[in-house]
Amino acid sequence: MVNVHIGLDDVDSINGGCTTHFAVQLAWELKKKNIRFIDYLNLIRLNPAVPWKTRGNGAVSIRLQASPEETVGDIWELIISKLEEYAGEFKDSKNQPSVVLHVGEIPWDYEWFANKALHDLVPIDLASRILSKHSETRYYSVRGRRGIIGALAAIGYTMLNTDYTYELVAYRVREYWGKPRLVDSTSIKTMDELYGKEMLLNYDYESNRPLITPHGPDPVLLGLRGEDPRVLFEAYSVLRINEPVEYIAVFRTNQHTDAHLLEVKSICDVRPYMCVKVRGFVKVKPRRIIGGHVVFELCDNECCIDVAAYEPTKSFREIVEKLEIGDYVEVMGCVRPPSSSHGKTINLEKIRVLKLTEIYDYVNPKCPLCGSTMESMGKGKGFRCRKCGYRDPYAKKIAVLRERSIKPGLYQPPKSAFKHLMKPLERIGREKTVFPGVSLEDFVTKLI
Ligand SMILES: [Zn+2]
Repeated sequence: MVNVHIGLDDVDSINGGCTTHFAVQLAWELKKKNIRFIDYLNLIRLNPAVPWKTRGNGAVSIRLQASPEETVGDIWELIISKLEEYAGEFKDSKNQPSVVLHVGEIPWDYEWFANKALHDLVPIDLASRILSKHSETRYYSVRGRRGIIGALAAIGYTMLNTDYTYELVAYRVREYWGKPRLVDSTSIKTMDELYGKEMLLNYDYESNRPLITPHGPDPVLLGLRGEDPRVLFEAYSVLRINEPVEYIAVFRTNQHTDAHLLEVKSICDVRPYMCVKVRGFVKVKPRRIIGGHVVFELCDNECCIDVAAYEPTKSFREIVEKLEIGDYVEVMGCVRPPSSSHGKTINLEKIRVLKLTEIYDYVNPKCPLCGSTMESMGKGKGFRCRKCGYRDPYAKKIAVLRERSIKPGLYQPPKSAFKHLMKPLERIGREKTVFPGVSLEDFVTKLI
């Protein structure tokens, strides 16, 4: 028996195709052949700042066990024919559907590549160079080779000793694509009341809207995210769904783990399109600009960068606005390249306030006789009391420590502003460090 890893990416299209949807169909075909899966489907979100990716930048891997070498050949032929078929059905000249198949242990350079693809830009030539060194790997692309990057990264990011979560995804039948999703909103709230503590991003109470249903023309009806696949199935059974569901599948994923954030020592190391965690001092007080974004400048001893809490982060901006010059913070987010209107900017996903600077307000002294506030007799001439006439030529303004309206700690935007990789504060302390293996046999099901 050998382990076989299949990576897929860029199968998405503007007219409804979706990499996860294709992967689920393929997994179902493999399951019918009695092939044993060694993992749930893996959904690997890669660097969200990559400029040519507009949707979630998610790649998928399927990991299984196959017996003799000819079975691997059969699997490969099945994948190619299915991929050709799917890519032909959802033609989109922009996308370059690709598959990588690897037999055996995951090479270290695949893991290295996957990590790089999470928080940096990786050129396609790098993927090709690495692939050419491994004879036990084959790959195939339908139009161009760009999808190879994600497909290889999905194989290399194994989540065997890094954090992960789960997502149960339900897929619509073809006739419903592009139509409103018929999931009863009240039942989503009921589900959240019952299982919300073990789930992620079910409902945004600040904007009063469900978060489990996407909005595009894609085949995804809904996705339930959480820590345990069994809980997700239980939660799913609470939902009232008024349209047919074709497939249900569970993905093990790096969503909501902050895996994209690379900790860098200095602001000087922050380059465009990277996703980082970096510390510095507030150099210029946050200000609200046109469009409702809140922007400030962050510096360390050598370099500075702009940081922005964009309008969709809503109430999070009010927290950021409370920062003052000199506050020491850690910012997390991905970097937009500079343009004619702004410099290199970190798109703020979370902020940790580490140390607040002490701010003093200088106020007039109180009269020692009657207690009223005295007034100045002119610069350097002391103070007098208007009420009782007391004068003190040596009195000075008194420094009073200002009480800050923000406390040290970690702050996040409302759930509606969350992107796939962003880890909510509620997950802190629940991070996983090992994968114990597949505990649910039927994690891919075709219902119709
Ligand atoms: Zn007085």
